[in-house]
Amino acid sequence: MTTTAYTNAHFFDGEHEGFTPDSWFTVDNETGRVTASGIGKAPAADATVDFGGQYVMPGMINCHTHMASDPNGYGIRPMGERSETENSFNAQRNLRDAIKGGVTYIRDVGSTYDIDIKMRDMRSKYDFPAPGIAASGRAMSVTGGHSDTHEPRSADFRGAYIVDSPDEMRKAARQAFKNGADQIKVMATGGVMSVGDDPNEIAFTPEELREAVREAHYRFKKVAAHAQGNAGIQVALEAGVDSIEHGIYMDEKQADFMIEHHVYLVPTLNAVEAIVADQTDRLPAHMYRKARAFSEAFYDNMRMAVRKHVPIATGTDAGTPFNDFKSGYWSELDLMVNRIGATTQETLFAATKNGADLIGISDDYGTMTPGKFADFIVMTDSPIEDIHAVQQEDKQVYQHGKRVY
Ligand SMILES: [Zn+2]
Repeated sequence: MTTTAYTNAHFFDGEHEGFTPDSWFTVDNETGRVTASGIGKAPAADATVDFGGQYVMPGMINCHTHMASDPNGYGIRPMGERSETENSFNAQRNLRDAIKGGVTYIRDVGSTYDIDIKMRDMRSKYDFPAPGIAASGRAMSVTGGHSDTHEPRSADFRGAYIVDSPDEMRKAARQAFKNGADQIKVMATGGVMSVGDDPNEIAFTPEELREAVREAHYRFKKVAAHAQGNAGIQVALEAGVDSIEHGIYMDEKQADFMIEHHVYLVPTLNAVEAIVADQTDRLPAHMYRKARAFSEAFYDNMRMAVRKHVPIATGTDAGTPFNDFKSGYWSELDLMVNRIGATTQETLFAATKNGADLIGISDDYGTMTPGKFADFIVMTDSPIEDIHAVQQEDKQVYQHGKRVY
């Protein structure tokens, strides 16, 4: 075993609050895992890297992405006409953006053609810059629902599993796991970007959702529910889903339920903000109309969730319009602090440890305690002092103890 000692850092290990000055940690170069950490003089090692007082924290996690989408391609050509090749190209570019921005793990919650599963598997064969990937493959949608595109589509387009009964859900969930999904994504309500539905509409019946949850939990896997309207959030919670994505109209009772049952909220603030703030007018009118109609209520409800300490994991919905994998993530952290009132410390936990807990990878990721992979970022300023510190373009990024940027 050869080791590298990283010394002279302000160190947030993801477990304990704040950045501890004059810290060191050691990494086993073969396994890429942290072996020890401490304060003051580091133990002897085969190599030493002196960080000169910079700020080191675990690599960040994005729990809600769509890697096959092009965040700047909306309003140009219908999604359903894009080939698998084109979407795979998007994915590779998005993955590079993510890791460059300091995101070392993502949970993809819906990719056309199962591209997220394929990218995850290719990552272990070919060397290209990418975060770790927990893949869902295609999402589950009802006929006419959030992922059943109304746009023109090519004959071989595969966007989602279209599911209209408990039996079909059971079959689709089993197929998704057979194809290699790490978790299941269900579109439990309507949404913003789709044409024919509304965020307040309930999509799946309780029986259909329970079938997805049962199939996932039988395999020790999880279900992420796109759930925006209040009634649809309720149906999803009662079915036993593991996370509420977006949660636009969640109420206090639902927040209490989520605390009691450790159900995560993944707010995806930047997905809404990027559309609301856009001035280009390039998107279809229904997207602006829907996003602007609920954004204030959304932020109010997210403030309520932060105040009550609902478990929150950071996710951005990266791939939605003007919401890229790098600066979109940075904006999400900014919105957490400056729009919905999370402390910078709470925000950093949501971006690291909580994300790993939600994905189910806490044995390996999310903190820098001994035994975990040495996935970390190095910044010149403290994101506890000012969350904008994460936006540093030339920050260093390490995966499994190797510097990638
Ligand atoms: Zn999404």
